[in-house]
Amino acid sequence: MTHCLDCGSERTSDQCLACGLTTAAAELVVRRRLVRRTAIFLVGIIVFVAASQVFPPLELDSILIFAGLVFFLSLALGYWIDFRARKHQEIEVMKRIYFGMIPVPWIFAGLIFLNGKLDTSRPVRVPATVVGKFATGGLPRSRRLVVTSWRYGRRVERIAVDQNDFDRFQPHDDIIIQMQKGEFSIPWVYGVFRE
Ligand SMILES: [Zn+2]
Repeated sequence: MTHCLDCGSERTSDQCLACGLTTAAAELVVRRRLVRRTAIFLVGIIVFVAASQVFPPLELDSILIFAGLVFFLSLALGYWIDFRARKHQEIEVMKRIYFGMIPVPWIFAGLIFLNGKLDTSRPVRVPATVVGKFATGGLPRSRRLVVTSWRYGRRVERIAVDQNDFDRFQPHDDIIIQMQKGEFSIPWVYGVFRE
């Protein structure tokens, strides 16, 4: 039993009875759809990265690593579907999983953005000491202040900051970190200040 590459109906002859496409035509249509949806997926990733810079979660680096892994595996699946479609092999299940992943970066982006945007919790201010800092180029560009942690069982926190704060704070500086609880309980960093 095979499925039409495009509409997924069971197919007994070269031409799909449901959508009327031949195997060759269905290949073209489904690959075009793959490209379109992958573009939506990639734009979602850019929006996600932007949202995570506007309202940076305290656990930003862990979130970026997790999201990066999910996005990378999804793109690999998309690539594999394209590869199989070209050989007219069965893609129905993979296609459903991949197309199901398309909104995920948008959902992540919306969560992080609204988590900060809708947040009306009282700011929490904690003292910390800068112990180091680092910046990485590429996408996303990231600048972090490494500070002593105020949380139990943790030695340091990596706080996302903008270029201005990155330049003005040096190791050994005592600073205040203002945090918010987050509307969806994802703590995020409002800003860093001099004591
Ligand atoms: Zn079909």
